[in-house]
Amino acid sequence: MTDLTPTSPPASVDFIRAAVLEDIRSGRFGGRVHTRFPPEPNGYLHIGHAKAMAVDFGIAAEFGGKCNLRFDDTNPVKEEQEYVDAIMEDIRWLGYQWDGEPRYASDYFDQLYEWAVKLIKKGKAYVCDLTPEQMREYRGTLTQPGKDSPYRNRSVAENLDLFERMRRGEFAEGSRTLRAKIDMASGNINLRDPVMYRILHVEHHRTGNKWCIYPMYDFAHGQCDSIEGITHSLCSLEYEDHRPLYEWFLKELEIYAPRQIEFARLNLSYTVLSKRKLLQLVKEGHVRGWDDPRLPTLRGLRRRGYTPEAIRDFCARIGVAKNNTTIELALLEHCLREDLNRRAPRVMGVLRPLKVVIENYPEGQVEEMQAINNPEDPSAGTRLVPFSRELYIEQDDFRENPPPKYYRLAPGREVRLRYAYFIKCVGVVKDAAGNVIGLRCTYDPATRGGDAPDGRKVKSTIHWVSAAHALPAEVRLYDRLFTVPHPDDVDDGQDFKAYLNPHSLEVLTGSVVEPGLRNAQPGQSFQFERLGYFCVDPDSAGGKLVFNRSVPLKDSWAKIEKAQRGE
Ligand code: ATP
Ligand code: MG
Repeated sequence: MTDLTPTSPPASVDFIRAAVLEDIRSGRFGGRVHTRFPPEPNGYLHIGHAKAMAVDFGIAAEFGGKCNLRFDDTNPVKEEQEYVDAIMEDIRWLGYQWDGEPRYASDYFDQLYEWAVKLIKKGKAYVCDLTPEQMREYRGTLTQPGKDSPYRNRSVAENLDLFERMRRGEFAEGSRTLRAKIDMASGNINLRDPVMYRILHVEHHRTGNKWCIYPMYDFAHGQCDSIEGITHSLCSLEYEDHRPLYEWFLKELEIYAPRQIEFARLNLSYTVLSKRKLLQLVKEGHVRGWDDPRLPTLRGLRRRGYTPEAIRDFCARIGVAKNNTTIELALLEHCLREDLNRRAPRVMGVLRPLKVVIENYPEGQVEEMQAINNPEDPSAGTRLVPFSRELYIEQDDFRENPPPKYYRLAPGREVRLRYAYFIKCVGVVKDAAGNVIGLRCTYDPATRGGDAPDGRKVKSTIHWVSAAHALPAEVRLYDRLFTVPHPDDVDDGQDFKAYLNPHSLEVLTGSVVEPGLRNAQPGQSFQFERLGYFCVDPDSAGGKLVFNRSVPLKDSWAKIEKAQRGE
């Protein structure tokens, strides 16, 4: 659980690690490294958060430091205990362990209130009665300075009185705010007298009804970092313009100041990484829940068959940078394939079965064929797979009229059955509509083990499952969730949901797998030979197996890399 060993060599020294190293060398924080991961409990974690965790937990571990988990629970309107619990579970699943107990911004509400009072007393904060609309008007724009609120010069005594009454619940939501008195003409809009506290008559999932005023993120985050003795507050790029405000509060409060460093958010092609958008997909029923295997949530990825190692490897490979880019989904899939290739047992499963009868094979006879569990891992050993007169092969492995370069089974043609014999197709069985519903074949007993004593060759090897021994299975095939690479970013006025892929899920109910999978447990992954990696879904129950295809075998990432190198 606490194994923080990266599965790849540690990322080279990026700009954040360089900054941390510099601070260690200069003794800026007494040589300490203490980071934090600050999720807002308003949704489930996604692969973007995995990147942030790789940075926060990863850097702490690499430098022998600590990483706190702190819930940024300053907005009671959207936050719930359900999310808090799920987030902790997902962090542990990824293999990270925070230092000590989980912390909450709400742990510090009393301290934050006192600090707000301190700023009022210093003449650095005031209670403002502008409505939200008026405040927007007064704020100005990127090109135009804002103008001072008419309430900006209230006396300290009046501000203290009003702020205290805000806290006691005397005023309606939206009627008053507490604002920092900075500079309405600042080139940085975040410094134009930002709101520190707003009134929300809303129960908080931890503090209940104790408070009806809540601090804004900007007034909470830096101070929480300060209280916890964080050295490096690592966050995504959208906070870069908030850094001057982060620093302003700490300076005016005259308290310990950590160093904030920003890095680019992860964007992944063919999906969305915003909790708000993911919530819409779940609530509106576009997917089956937060753990739908098509979602980029950690729960979805886990159910899909992603391993913590594959996700951490992915994060190590993408590293951190200062500029926003979109990473190809194919790289994430590549990382999973690499990991599962090393450890997933191989089995035979047939997704779309076609019945084969081997006419010269004795009726009632069963042979146990020895099969290799994992060619990448000799210690995984071998298993026995039953072979008999009636088998299933993949519909796709037979063509009545084979096109050029199609080397698998066809009338009159011979192929090898993996771990078994050569078989030859001698006849085709059709239904009334002319569809092929079965094949008549013969086998050559001399080819057991896979080679013909007379040296004749076959051009392909196909997988199979003995019909009498086959276990029925449902197989869920997934495709990308969206039809366009940047669904958030299409410039045609359409909602991102207009680009949902209607074929992102295909359910096969008539698949079969070899009998050795009888006791496969939810979460276990297998390579179905020639097809891909499949993970047992928790829906498997009462002897019915359900598999999710995690990723097909073919790697499109290798192709992308080649194209990028111009080959
Ligand atoms: P969302 O837009 O999904 O709601 P958020 O930033 O509001 O994201 P938080 O729960 O506040 O979500 O995020 C916790 C931490 O994870 C923050 O430090 C944030 O910067 C980081 N983070 C969130 N999304 C990404 C991402 N796509 N890439 C990298 N870091 C991210
Ligand atoms: Mg956030």
